[in-house]
Amino acid sequence: MRENFLQINIEKNYPGFSLKANLKIHEGEFFSLVGPSGCGKTTLLRLISGLEEPDQGRIIMAGADITLVPPAQRRIGFVFQDYALFPHLTVAGNIEYGLKVQRLPASKRQARVKELLALFELEKMGQRRIQGLSGGERQRVALARALAPEPLLLLMDEPFSALDYSLRRRLRRELKELQEKLGFTAIFVTHQQEEALSLSERLAIMKDGRIMQTGTAVEVYENPCHPFVAGFLGDANLIPCNLQFETKTAKVSLQGGKDLFLPDIRAEKAGKYLLMVRPEDLLLNTEEVIFQGKIRSLEYLGYGYHIELMTSEGLLLKIVTGKENHNLQKGQLQGVGIRPGAAKLIPIKR
Ligand code: ATP
Repeated sequence: MRENFLQINIEKNYPGFSLKANLKIHEGEFFSLVGPSGCGKTTLLRLISGLEEPDQGRIIMAGADITLVPPAQRRIGFVFQDYALFPHLTVAGNIEYGLKVQRLPASKRQARVKELLALFELEKMGQRRIQGLSGGERQRVALARALAPEPLLLLMDEPFSALDYSLRRRLRRELKELQEKLGFTAIFVTHQQEEALSLSERLAIMKDGRIMQTGTAVEVYENPCHPFVAGFLGDANLIPCNLQFETKTAKVSLQGGKDLFLPDIRAEKAGKYLLMVRPEDLLLNTEEVIFQGKIRSLEYLGYGYHIELMTSEGLLLKIVTGKENHNLQKGQLQGVGIRPGAAKLIPIKR
């Protein structure tokens, strides 16, 4: 794997919106851009593909500066949100399109189309029109069309957004297997945190035209550097606290709970922080009670329960617990602990 295969350092300004992105993507990597609607994910993809020009900065791919290279010469494939398939062409015609643009001889084009129809299990549909295809079939044609000219990089803008949940999950798995088999570098845009966490080797979380954090799924979920990242990638308890260092251990005084002594703390400076604990890391059946409170709501999830617990200091905690806690009652007093090593400190930025 070539490190820093794609290096992006660009700026783009629209009235009322500015995007600044600095990213390095490795060869063969499945990388996701994730963030709420309007944060600039599509704009960043369009800049990489050449459909937009940056106001400032450079894009380097495979050692070459492609900032001003026309889109068709960049060797970048694009799968659009609505697939943008050509309705007047057949399935095979759509897949062949990019090969014609490349001026590949007819015999090579036909061989490549055949290969892709087989790879995407579309052999029996080569002569079908686009209108009659299901959502999942269209999605496979769009991927086959984008991959036909053997791009160095594949960009995908929310390619599953029009599909139902179970089909999304299946296609997600298929896409990942395909990417592992063929080894292409991929940038995948989604606003769904589950999709980004399950698909990506690394991901970037975006907000208001800025990249807030980049890392592996585990890194960004377990160690978010910003409250927004913590909240966007799942549910999080963010508990105001004060950090002091006592001899060799870090002491965290919590609002609404006991002091915590955290030997594995990463923070360097004493001061005010948010203690981040995921709902699944708050434990009901523990001797090490940190918080005491009353169960305010209790929701059955099938695999367990979602609980809201209000401490006497007015702190509301979100807890997810397993089926074994079926005896819980609304209004009941309950002690709660924290799974060892699961609490993380997030600096409060002023
Ligand atoms: P979504 O998830 O809804 O697709 P996104 O994260 O992809 O959102 P973008 O489509 O990149 O967001 O848009 C980011 C911002 O840039 C928006 O405020 C949008 O209105 C603005 N924008 C995008 N393209 C243009 C343009 N050509 N001219 C002016 N403003 C634009």
